[in-house]
Amino acid sequence: MKREFRGLSAAEFFYRNREIAGFSNPVRALYQTVRELVENSLDATEMFGILPEIYVKIWLSDEKSNRVFVRVEDNGIGIPPDEIPKVFARVFYGTKYVLRQTRGVFGLGVKMAVLYAQITTGEPVYVKSSTPSLPIIAEYKLSIDIKRNIPIILEESIFRKTSRWHGTVVQLCIEGNWQQARRRIEEYIRRTALITPYASMRLEGPDLSLEFKRVTKIIPQPPKIGKPHPYGVDVEMLKSIIEGFSNKEARLKEFLMESFDSVGETIAENFLKWARIKNKKLKDLTLEDITELSEKMRDYPEWRRPRAATLSPLGEDLLKRGVKEILKPEYVAAVTRKPSSYGGNPFIVEVALAWGGELPLVDKPILLRFANKIPLLYDEGADISRKIVENIDWSLYKVKFPAPLAVVVHVCSTKIPFKGVGKEAIADVPELEKEIANAIKEAGRRLRAHLTRVEKKFALERKRITFEKYIPVIADSLSTITGTPRESIEKKLREIMLRILGSEILIMREEAEKEVAKVER
Ligand code: ADP
Ligand code: MG
Repeated sequence: MKREFRGLSAAEFFYRNREIAGFSNPVRALYQTVRELVENSLDATEMFGILPEIYVKIWLSDEKSNRVFVRVEDNGIGIPPDEIPKVFARVFYGTKYVLRQTRGVFGLGVKMAVLYAQITTGEPVYVKSSTPSLPIIAEYKLSIDIKRNIPIILEESIFRKTSRWHGTVVQLCIEGNWQQARRRIEEYIRRTALITPYASMRLEGPDLSLEFKRVTKIIPQPPKIGKPHPYGVDVEMLKSIIEGFSNKEARLKEFLMESFDSVGETIAENFLKWARIKNKKLKDLTLEDITELSEKMRDYPEWRRPRAATLSPLGEDLLKRGVKEILKPEYVAAVTRKPSSYGGNPFIVEVALAWGGELPLVDKPILLRFANKIPLLYDEGADISRKIVENIDWSLYKVKFPAPLAVVVHVCSTKIPFKGVGKEAIADVPELEKEIANAIKEAGRRLRAHLTRVEKKFALERKRITFEKYIPVIADSLSTITGTPRESIEKKLREIMLRILGSEILIMREEAEKEVAKVER
């Protein structure tokens, strides 16, 4: 038998293995398409300090209800016209291959949606985009040459802008199941609104119309582009960093200081001494030197923690606002932990506990998970947070189930340790587990302080009601015995009651303040 040898393009690989990227069936594919487009729109706005305005429109084809149109419009930074074909029709092409927290990372997401549309309905992707600085708007219809992984331009037109509009419109027609995907998509948009309270979002579906207006104009500080941390560097990466380093006359010490995060002169010197590596010139390094260097970099115990400027958490205040707006609880405790790291990757954990109000009574806490501001809706059972939430002794925080409690967990990192390729569940990394548990406990103590206050207030209120009930009765009897008018006795008794309750209120306040101080410490 004759064997035929040939390569496989990236586009063809994903065409064959689309379930890897979440496009496994018409329900999941529709959900995933909305996700990819919305996440690109959010990255294209907030990263550039633009308050996001995102409009998602979904409608069904007149002929066949399983042909679904998805259109997402944003007011983002746009895409230069000559980049549009590659950005939408070439797998592994994008602007996010740098070290900082973004929703997209691989330069793959939207192409998966385009590929899926192409295979299921044969329809090309429609794109319209304009950048703030260019006076033109570009419109394209594109498909992907799957075998060669290059764009096919079906239509192209450029025209002058008549307004100051900038942003991007993307429209796709895919095979999807709106009826079954509807609830997930709705929930996805709702949770996205929670974690981006500075975004305005509108979703219009065949039988659905949903709008979330921004509740704040504050956008968290965008993440900065960072350098890799020496701890997480393997031989290949080290080789390519050395290759990319312009000054080959430079010595190792200088190279380390310039190329890696958190490496200053002292640390570089100490490391070389510890590793017993000579401070050679880069051009004199052999492959063995590089391999040794990479091994020693991983074993050196004294590196500083990675810096967290590459991350963009929401912060306690914004998180609280988002939770209040979407879950409408009576009380929210929010905690943003200090940066931490695992395997050279910085991360920050944020947690909010929402209590009461419109939350339903549940037997175990409702869990809302987020990674880099993306809601995670699938595979909750496999997620590290589920396990932690279940192992917490909630009675320590005065919570007895059934209770109206929701736990929000947000993990930000330049590398989220996802379990498997579905990117819906976070794996059990010990450093992460510890931070999530500590964040929940910290928020739990604040919740306990709140519940203690509420409990005392109720006890006082009950006392007041009891007093009120008996005052007329007692006043009546005393008046009969003493002959003093009933009204004046009642008035006196009320004064006494207020004095008693008043001092209790003072005590309660003091105790509450102590409790809060304890938490803050
Ligand atoms: P990723 O988001 O992982 O980078 P995508 O395939 O989803 O990969 O997108 C590729 C690139 O296209 C992005 O890196 C971004 O530069 C650009 N892009 C996609 N959608 C938009 C948009 N709505 N506005 C501006 N740029 C976009
Ligand atoms: Mg993307």
